Amino acid sequence: MASTDVTLEELQAEIRNVPDFPEKGIQFKDITPVLADARLLDGCISHLLSGHSADTVDVVAGIDARGFIFGAAMARELGVGFVPIRKKGKLPWEIIEESYELEYGSNTIAIHTDAVSAGQRVLLVDDLLATGGTAAAAASVVAKAGGLVVEAVFFIELGFLDGRAKMGAAPVRSLVRY
Ligand code: AMP
Repeated sequence: MASTDVTLEELQAEIRNVPDFPEKGIQFKDITPVLADARLLDGCISHLLSGHSADTVDVVAGIDARGFIFGAAMARELGVGFVPIRKKGKLPWEIIEESYELEYGSNTIAIHTDAVSAGQRVLLVDDLLATGGTAAAAASVVAKAGGLVVEAVFFIELGFLDGRAKMGAAPVRSLVRY
């Protein structure tokens, strides 16, 4: 795994806070300035992978949609495969799905039944951990498919929402915390 000279402070400085998006009262953490900068993107991938190698991870699973951006790059870097965990109605084959509650209503995410084989070590990734509903449901479908989440890693964590508490036994790590 390549090391990086990019600091977490540099990454945090390029996260753009957008008030009242997509609705009033939400401060959206816009990561596109990090993605658009080759050095920061490389540094972010390196930090997300910290300590992992193909000796400890069999597959990277990314959460729809920004988890795909990091996840595929991380998988390529490790030399392992990538699995998408998608919002309802997007995966064409047989699926395992899980619903979770939002403030208003619910969401459902899914994984292909054959995406992970029994006992495979899965590194789960998304851009941001907020209430933890999405990531907990993602960890659950991975487990139901037979995988073992070795770590759930996030670029950003909104610590005040305590999403970690929903993650059960899966180790959780984030690069930048608010
Ligand atoms: P949650 O299920 O509440 O942990 O929400 C996590 C998912 O919603 C992630 O896939 C994030 O990309 C997205 N998300 C939630 N809150 C924000 C935010 N403030 N800024 C950007 N993305 C967010």
